[in-house]
Amino acid sequence: MNTFELDEKYIAHTYKRFPVEIVSGQGSLVRDVDGKEYIDMGSGIAVTSFGVADEAWIRAVEDQIHRVQHMSNLYYTAPCARLARALCEKTGMARVFFSNSGAEANECAIKAARKWAAETKGPACSTIVTLENSFHGRTLTTLAATGQEHYHELYQPLTPGFAHIPAGDLDALRALCKADTVAAVLIECVQGEGGVVPLDPAFATALESFLREKNILLMVDEVQTGNGRSGALYAYMRYGLHPDVVSTAKGLAGGLPLGATLLSDRLKDIFSYGDHGSTFGGNPVAAAAALSIVDRLTPDFLQSVAAKGELLRELFTGAPGIESVSGLGLMLGLKTVRPAAQVVADCMARGVLCLTAKDKVRLLPALNIPEDLLRRAAGVILEVVKE
Ligand code: PLP
Repeated sequence: MNTFELDEKYIAHTYKRFPVEIVSGQGSLVRDVDGKEYIDMGSGIAVTSFGVADEAWIRAVEDQIHRVQHMSNLYYTAPCARLARALCEKTGMARVFFSNSGAEANECAIKAARKWAAETKGPACSTIVTLENSFHGRTLTTLAATGQEHYHELYQPLTPGFAHIPAGDLDALRALCKADTVAAVLIECVQGEGGVVPLDPAFATALESFLREKNILLMVDEVQTGNGRSGALYAYMRYGLHPDVVSTAKGLAGGLPLGATLLSDRLKDIFSYGDHGSTFGGNPVAAAAALSIVDRLTPDFLQSVAAKGELLRELFTGAPGIESVSGLGLMLGLKTVRPAAQVVADCMARGVLCLTAKDKVRLLPALNIPEDLLRRAAGVILEVVKE
């Protein structure tokens, strides 16, 4: 049996895959089993931050893999401690809990908020408010956090204690906060799975002031927007926000599973020994990989990400077949006249891998994609959207 047949027979049918088997790559070029080359404008859904088979990333992983590939969190390992320092120094946050995925990073954020609120305001204060159209993960709790009903239908009952408000509607939050039961609000600065929808900056600022006034935590889900993707280290920085908790994953380790939950000073001692844990969280190979990524997210580099995002915006804005362009940095959504799925299929046939998000074509290329490849990919997309 070939890979398609094995997959069809033995893997649970949760992914509707494209009929392409990727076998190798270099940077933003990947190759399928038949030798066809593609420009990768999806980077594994915002994961391979510096592309495929990146030299510095390989060196970091190889070096650590030859030392120790895993050690229990009962012992110290240098990569995870050094990564936590790098993240705290670059963000001003105080402590980090490491896990393996975005959903787990959000689970930890929710646990931190619930514990903090129970201790400071009492156990009735446990509600986590999120935005409609948000996406926070696939575990039962992060599905409950996700503000999209259709994800909830099959898996009732979900974890209780979540409420959703429309993005931009502070009055809806005010109404929810009348009873003092809201522990935290969790937001994405740009809703990725929701269709690359940026939060209104004025709403974000008003939300932060309201939460400060009410002593409610502000938590930002930077799983997709984080680690340079927005043109800042974290998208909340572009919004001028000061979150109490930040969750991230995806691009953090550039292709190995790693989640991180960053806790601000007021929450730094929220967890005591035994309160939370993860066998693989902070794995030294994943942490070494992440250090090789985070160390390169310098202000100059982030500026280049923002500039490439601007270049794409200029190329796409007002082009025939494109109704609108949304997003931040190298996280862009194109509302196309043709159905997004058809655009993606036609781009693939012409050697460009793109993604969809709701009714948009979603672009999440590697942060270091060379400008000539970016222009080539944009050229193909521009041809395909006007067909
Ligand atoms: N949060 C956001 C904003 C995401 O985009 C995603 C995944 O797409 C998740 C959480 C869940 O991350 P993971 O699939 O690593 O659990």
